[in-house]
Amino acid sequence: MIPGVPRIINAYGTNTRLGGRPLAPEVVAAMAAAARVTVEMHALQAAASRAIAAATGAEAGIVTAGASAALLLGAAACMARLDPGAMNRLPDTTGLPDEFIIVRSQRNMYDRALRAAGGRLIEVGIPDRVSGPGVRDADPWEIAEAITPRTAAIYYLAGPRSQPTLAAVARIAGERGVPLIVDAAAQLPPRDNLRRFLAEGADLVCFSGGKAIGGPQASGILAGRRDLVSSALVQMLDLDLPAEEFAPPPEFAPLGQLRGLPHHGIGRSCKTGKEEIAGLLVALQRFVATDPAVETAGWTARLQAVAAAAPGLPLRLLADGSKPGLPVLVWQLSAPAVAQRIEQRLRAQAPAVHVDAARLGDGLLAINPIAFEDADAVVLGAALVAAAEGGA
Ligand SMILES: *Cc1c(COP(=O)(O)O)cnc(C)c1O
Repeated sequence: MIPGVPRIINAYGTNTRLGGRPLAPEVVAAMAAAARVTVEMHALQAAASRAIAAATGAEAGIVTAGASAALLLGAAACMARLDPGAMNRLPDTTGLPDEFIIVRSQRNMYDRALRAAGGRLIEVGIPDRVSGPGVRDADPWEIAEAITPRTAAIYYLAGPRSQPTLAAVARIAGERGVPLIVDAAAQLPPRDNLRRFLAEGADLVCFSGGKAIGGPQASGILAGRRDLVSSALVQMLDLDLPAEEFAPPPEFAPLGQLRGLPHHGIGRSCKTGKEEIAGLLVALQRFVATDPAVETAGWTARLQAVAAAAPGLPLRLLADGSKPGLPVLVWQLSAPAVAQRIEQRLRAQAPAVHVDAARLGDGLLAINPIAFEDADAVVLGAALVAAAEGGA
């Protein structure tokens, strides 16, 4: 309970606006323990780097304030590299490579993080497979032709429908020596994706800590090349100390090449606290260690308990489709307007119930098990019955 704030039941997913998901007791305990001590933040990030490297196969990694913060820091790293003068100037990019090549069909609201660091987006491709009149998207050669001396990086949004393939884009990036930064914020599960994008040739990859990993809401991961991750780290760390007192940990050895320490960097406005770092590391360990079949069984049982508490409603248990191993409970209504009416009634209850808003347009009320607890299953089932009683 948070005094003065009504609790909700989040049956939508790990959405930021709904507070993400309840954290496992082990994650909460790690955050509480971290809250009671003080540590040097670069030493904590070095420990994080070792854990992230083990989980992802990356050379190095840091905990950030979210995937969006990871993108911002990754972009800053691709522009300023290990030049403290350039770090001090961002988001002013005068004289720096500041162009991020992005396939037009991969534009999304989170790419603002690249611009927030000072980057400029260079769009390529005519995505008429998306707009309808054709079948094509950007071709790899179009990305290659957009590379100039002003190119800071190629940006790639990982997703089941993203084109061209990451492998094709990585080939170009590798041939031309341009970093490739992958937004994989929501591409977990499957667990293998922790390693996949780096293995396919990404130089940097960003994950949300507060989605499937089960870490704190304001946590994320930036992992990849040691020189770029090290640059990102010093653009977030508070380095307000005499330069000779700062000894870079071996995890961030390229910082030994800095000719001086930057001041508070562009990432200082999205700093990560020790509590988030400690919580994320325990969540990551749990995410890697959890048997996906056991997790699916737990989610399935939770949804079955919802259905059992709503007898008489035509609820069906399905595979989510986009997330392997994730079941959803769906209620197909006769029309989108009917689904919207019932959804409004669910939100009007106490506690308010939020279901998957993205599927209402198909007349579907979909219940995602990831962000509510077993103890809420009966309340949720009763809420569905009450909402149905108002008639369709
Ligand atoms: C959720 C999401 C983000 C933002 O993640 P945070 O951890 O909330 O900062 C960025 N990109 C994509 C594609 C996402 O789905």
